[in-house]
Amino acid sequence: MRTIVCVEPGVLEKHELDKPVPKAGEVVVKIKSIGICGTDIHAFGGNQPFFSYPRVLGHELSGIIESVGEGSQLPVGQSVYIIPYLSCGECIACRNGKPNCCTDINVLGVHRDGGMCEYLCVPETAVVKSEGLDFNDLAVIECLAIGAHAVRRANISEQDTVLVLGAGPIGIGALQFAQVAGAKVLISDVKEDKLKFCQEKYNVAGTVNALGDVEAQLAELTQGEFPTVIIDCTGNVSAMKAAFTQLAHGGTIVFVSVVKGEISFTDTEFHKRETTLLGSRNATLQDFEHVVACLKSGQVSSQALVTHTAKFSDLIESFQTWVKPESGVIKAVVEMD
Ligand SMILES: [Zn+2]
Ligand SMILES: [Zn+2]
Repeated sequence: MRTIVCVEPGVLEKHELDKPVPKAGEVVVKIKSIGICGTDIHAFGGNQPFFSYPRVLGHELSGIIESVGEGSQLPVGQSVYIIPYLSCGECIACRNGKPNCCTDINVLGVHRDGGMCEYLCVPETAVVKSEGLDFNDLAVIECLAIGAHAVRRANISEQDTVLVLGAGPIGIGALQFAQVAGAKVLISDVKEDKLKFCQEKYNVAGTVNALGDVEAQLAELTQGEFPTVIIDCTGNVSAMKAAFTQLAHGGTIVFVSVVKGEISFTDTEFHKRETTLLGSRNATLQDFEHVVACLKSGQVSSQALVTHTAKFSDLIESFQTWVKPESGVIKAVVEMD
């Protein structure tokens, strides 16, 4: 089977590998669509922490069950999406219903080989049956689920004014699910074209240019009250630090993006607001199911998110153009051919 391997940073190669055979508890999925994510881009660029090469990238996956291991109840031919976070099921986090932050988490395409291949063998618990959505929609569920999880973490309601920092695919996901929850949503980014995109496609309540005087813009947009929830999707230390002084009193900060550096804050700013500070990692089945329901009802759309598509046979060529910022990619999807 055709497989694209990231053999070292900056180098993708086409390899011919054997089609996998599922053992008991496993299924082989014939991959149909692969969403390309910031993680893949960073891994290709060599700046993804805890990453080893060679690695098959790709964790946003949909497909059809090709074969099943002994004893599996899953039907061959069934369309599925894959939850790429393989958890141990036994650690403190797993026992407490939080497999998304398992102490021994294995993410497809990160810690073990992912789905840039024709057939992928995964534990059967990692596949979810799905009807009524096309394979490209199924492939972006994971990306949207990250935003949905952050919104759920913060318990967002129609009372909230939410500021999403960063208008990349994760930020746009968070924006949409905050709107589904009924909140008034503001979006901030350093790029005017991305802000304009969010204004046109998602009718946000306001946009904030992160290169300008952010506090002044927020004061104006919120009548001096500031956002009750700030969701950071920037991966930028200074944006994350600034959130502590841009928040409404009684408000909540959710850090979705991960940075290597240290985040510091002034305790008086933190305390006077009685700030709630939350980390948000990956997503759970509950979030994936919420995404599917919202895609089916049309409350959330993948259409505006997916700006570029390519065929699997052109993946290497296309990927090299998508990593350049001037390509304007928000989200790319690769279709198996
Ligand atoms: Zn992803
Ligand atoms: Zn665990």
